[in-house]
Amino acid sequence: LCMADKFEMVLSPEELRSKLPEWPYFIIDLQLWDKHTQKEKGKVCLQINQSYGLLRDYFTGRELAVTWANEEFRGMFHGPLDRITVYDGPTAEFLKEKGIDEVVLLDPWADKVLSEKDFEVRAFIIGGIVDTGHDKKLTPKIGEELERAGIKVRRRKIVLRGDVAGVPDRINRILGIILKMLVEGKSMDEAVYEFQ
Ligand code: SAM
Repeated sequence: LCMADKFEMVLSPEELRSKLPEWPYFIIDLQLWDKHTQKEKGKVCLQINQSYGLLRDYFTGRELAVTWANEEFRGMFHGPLDRITVYDGPTAEFLKEKGIDEVVLLDPWADKVLSEKDFEVRAFIIGGIVDTGHDKKLTPKIGEELERAGIKVRRRKIVLRGDVAGVPDRINRILGIILKMLVEGKSMDEAVYEFQ
């Protein structure tokens, strides 16, 4: 039974949230912000804004946290900074403040595929990365940084019929796929199709 079935989707997002024991954080990690061009930074901001829109469909939007958020990000972001969680420091520090010691890192380079068993964690991390060449292996760096700070990291990939190739890699689409699986109980393939 998925969460939506349990509550029959008759409740408003706020009511639904109050009935859930604990809702995970969806964290967009901006530690690689400075590696982007200005144009790419703009795309990161846009995709974060679109992520907020998606999350608000189900919940309040506060569950969206942006870490390593510097002044430049705050200036460039056109979305509602006061309605999401914006954290200036490292992701690991944010997690420690929240008492979270284990996370799922969404990572196209991971060996393991994301599964229902992973939905017990209290935070999902998506890399705040925009790159056109898919060959750059950047997301694992985020995992290494978290592990160095003592966080347990489950690296998990999203695949379409077993392959990462058919999966859209925009930050907001990755978040959308997770939400479809987690909240609506859809299979990974179904969720990916909806965001293609
Ligand atoms: N070349 C980059 C890399 O090294 O990962 C691609 C980054 S992708 C544009 C932005 C983020 O989306 C990644 O950091 C990751 O969190 C998530 N992502 C994209 N495709 C994914 C997939 N197939 N499975 C899991 N996460 C994915």
